[in-house]
Amino acid sequence: MRGEQRGKPVSGAPRRTGAQPLVSPMAVGVLHRLRGFFARESTQGLDSVEREDLTQAQLRATRPIVSGVLLCGAVLLAIITVFEMAGATPSIGYPGWLQMLMASVVAGCAAAVARLPQWQHRLVLTLLATLLLGIFMSMPLPGAIGQLALRTGLFQLLPLALMALMVRPVSLLAFALLIVAMAQLRIVLYGAPGTGSALYWLYTLTTIGFGLVLAGYRSDFAVSAWRMRRRLVQQASTDPVTGLLNRNGWSERAEAAHARAAATGVPLALVVLDIDFFKRINDRLGHDGGDAVLQRLGAIMQARAGVRGCAARIGGEEFAVLLEGHDAGSARTFAEYVRGEFGGEHEGAVTTLSAGVAEHRPGETLRELMRRADLALYAAKREGRDRVCVAPVS
Ligand code: GH3
Ligand code: MG
Ligand code: MG
Repeated sequence: MRGEQRGKPVSGAPRRTGAQPLVSPMAVGVLHRLRGFFARESTQGLDSVEREDLTQAQLRATRPIVSGVLLCGAVLLAIITVFEMAGATPSIGYPGWLQMLMASVVAGCAAAVARLPQWQHRLVLTLLATLLLGIFMSMPLPGAIGQLALRTGLFQLLPLALMALMVRPVSLLAFALLIVAMAQLRIVLYGAPGTGSALYWLYTLTTIGFGLVLAGYRSDFAVSAWRMRRRLVQQASTDPVTGLLNRNGWSERAEAAHARAAATGVPLALVVLDIDFFKRINDRLGHDGGDAVLQRLGAIMQARAGVRGCAARIGGEEFAVLLEGHDAGSARTFAEYVRGEFGGEHEGAVTTLSAGVAEHRPGETLRELMRRADLALYAAKREGRDRVCVAPVS
């Protein structure tokens, strides 16, 4: 136990004096809350790989919507220009052709945002499109500022929607800074509005605040959907009794391992195992006792195959493991280890297993490989059980 825990300071440790802390506890509290808001409680407990997976999932979902909002901005600017050209609304000084050109540039940015793979490029284009919309919708040329308040209000809807869709904190920050910079530029160009600058800044900061709040809740929603999807995927591919892959999960992983072996020529071997006279074990130990036997075999296989090994319970008391980089000989050794560890008397019942081993032949499908491993397993059963049989390689 350390000295401080017993209430006595450890000798030599710096003694606390009456000096004031550098940062006030209230400021620390506020910073802590702010950090909590941006970190979002819903994402806690995730490691860096999971966070990146989550970020990518959110980006895939929000990217088309960001592009859609920018396109809406372009359409809005085009409609305003048509109104101006038709004389339905006063112009803010820019020629109609220039506003139409800018609407087309923003539409081009929207199309590029939907396609560009690099997020930094997408962010730059999103900021550029927002800046152009901001200038041509809410920053009139001198002498045409009558529409300023209304047009700023109309424009500000776009950053609000865009901020709600931003996934990376750096994008949110860049966006908020752009909105503040544009707000300041308006004050520099046109002076404080008639309602006073306090109300103007309240309005600007409210837009940013609402954007952040919406982004936070959208992120929470995305995290819960991501977690639920991950749980469902895991449940759909895991056997609840042993924790190994089930037939579904195994088929997916085995197909991938088979494709890798076919492409690289790395050896691949399949072992199928079946508990001998399991019905009798069930009769003797009851169904729960039988389940415990299944769990024991599952644990042995998991430990032997390792986390990357493709071990599965593919039927009632049938198991399989696909061993990448193993030939028939080393797969047989694996099966013999498992048979040796599993065999013997446990809880008053003798347990043994039979196994069939087959090494992948060039050009052979996974189904054909399984068929040969099954035939080897039947041979092991026929020859008296509690043994491993290897399918002929050629
Ligand atoms: P063999 O040596 O020929 O393989 O004989 P066996 O009795 O092991 O084979 P059989 O296929 O006739 O019986 C398998 C038994 O496995 C029947 C079924 O009741 C039992 N079983 C299947 N799934 C489960 C399970 O999830 N839990 C338990 N406890 N038993 C199961
Ligand atoms: Mg059996
Ligand atoms: Mg069986």
